Formats: sequence, C-alpha cells, structure tokens
Amino acid sequence: VTGIADRPFATATARLSLAGVRMDAVNGLGPKDLLRPLLASARCQHVITANVEYLRRAAGDERLREVLAGAALVVPDGMHVVWAAKIAGAEVSRRVTGHDLTQALAEMSASEGVSLFLLGAAPGVADRAAAALRDRYPGVRIAGTYSPPDCPYPFPEGEDRRIVEAVNASGARALLVALGCPKQDLWLAAHGNDLKASVAIGVGGVFDVLAGTRRRAPGWAQTAGLEWVYRMMQEPRRLLPRYVKDALFVSKLFVGAAASRFSGGGEAGRGGGPR
Ligand code: UDP
Repeated sequence: VTGIADRPFATATARLSLAGVRMDAVNGLGPKDLLRPLLASARCQHVITANVEYLRRAAGDERLREVLAGAALVVPDGMHVVWAAKIAGAEVSRRVTGHDLTQALAEMSASEGVSLFLLGAAPGVADRAAAALRDRYPGVRIAGTYSPPDCPYPFPEGEDRRIVEAVNASGARALLVALGCPKQDLWLAAHGNDLKASVAIGVGGVFDVLAGTRRRAPGWAQTAGLEWVYRMMQEPRRLLPRYVKDALFVSKLFVGAAASRFSGGGEAGRGGGPR
C-alpha cells in the first residue's frame, strides 16, 4: 500500500496500490460522497470500479494500467478486492459496485436533477433499464440512451463521433457505460475529453440487471464474496474460463498484498480526489 497525494482536488479518500493498480480506499465514504465532488467538475471525470477481473487483466495489459492510472476515481469492486486491500493493511470499509454508483446517481437525479445517459448493452436493454429507473426513482432524469453496434473495440469509423455527439446533445451530467470490461473503460479513456458530462462510469452488467435480463446474487452471497458463483450458474460456458483465471489470480493477489504489508508498504495515503 503506498501513499499518493498528487491529485488536484482534495477530498478524504485514502490511496492504496494493489497488484500495481492505484485505488481509492473510500474508507467511510458512501457512493454519493464520492460522486458529489466529481459532479461539480467542468472536465469529464472517469470512474472505474475495479474488480478481480480488472486487476487480473491490468496485470498483463499496459494500456489498461494506464487507463486505470488516468481515472479520477478507482474504487474496489467486490469482496476479494476489499479483502486484498485489508490484507495489504489499508482501511477499506466497503466495496463500491456499478450498482451502488448507479443507485446513488439515480437518487441524486430524482432529488437534485442530475441527468443521466445510459450507453451500451444489447439493443433495447438500455431503454428498459431507463424505464426501470423511472419506475424505481420517480423524477429521475434520463437524458438519453444508446446501444452501439455489437462489435469488438474499437468501434467502426464514425461511431465514436456519433456516440459523443448523442451524449453531448442530450446535456447529460453523468454517463453510465455498459460495454463490459475492458471495452467500456478503454472507450472512456479515449473519448472522455470530448464529453461534456461531468462524470462517466463503466458499469458492466448493471443495465441487464435493471432491465431484468440478468439476475443479481442475493445480498448475503454478495457480501460473502460468492456473487461469482451465482453469475456462473447463469452463464457457465462464458464465465467458467474467466473465473478459473480470476481464482488463480486472487491467490496471487492475496500473497502480494501480504508481502507488501510485511515489506513495510502498509500505509495508505490520504488526500486527493478526482484526478
Ligand atoms: N456489452 C456491450 N458491448 C460489448 C460487450 C458488452 O454492449 O461489446 C454489454 C453487455 O451487453 C452487458 C454489459 O456490456 O450489458 C456487460 O457485459 P459483460 O457481461 O460481458 O461484462 P461483465 O459485467 O461480465 O464484465
């Protein structure tokens, strides 16, 4: 765990480094506390929820490490990342998922008028997610939705511009991007500077859960670190290879975290906020 205090805004997030990725420990701060200073920003602030898959991919992908290093806020997503942070000696009170940030934004939208744009997921899913948000958070402001064509990153020529223009024309303050890991964050790192929104967050499968096309594990399974079991039962063929790799990586993550603690890097830094 290393202290890093070189960011322009000053809030109270502690810093830690796990598997070479700088993260915000978010000790004691709720999703709204984290989002509020970012929503006041004139520049688009990129938020990443880093789960085990992210850290594993980043370990073997320099570009993804750069993207994580350049994000305004990188929060620990999932109990295994929280446990690794604790093993490393950081005070991490909670995980912060895409669902948590989406819920916080929807509540702030309904009460404070923050407008949201939903980008990504299969055709129709973002619209259904928007309808679910309107149902659940009366008064929520949905500025727009868009599902880009299903193709590997990068998008075909012209598509990036179309997306940026649609988001900017909508006047959205916050952009939720559901294009999966790492596509959503590679796209945001490449195009965030062209966006007029104050905050942009990669939220993975959140739209599917809101739309009802994917079910989320019960709360007890989430806090027991067993959400992956539940997800794997829904999509075993796609997810088994991913989770085998994740499980091998988790053991390395824990060993590395313990080593960093006992080698004297056990102090979390304090200070800083959006980069
Ligand atoms: N997705 C997408 N385009 C892609 C890959 C993914 O729109 O090229 C959407 C997908 O439909 C889903 C969300 O991104 O709504 C999360 O994808 P996935 O389940 O693969 O990511 P995970 O949550 O498993 O990381």
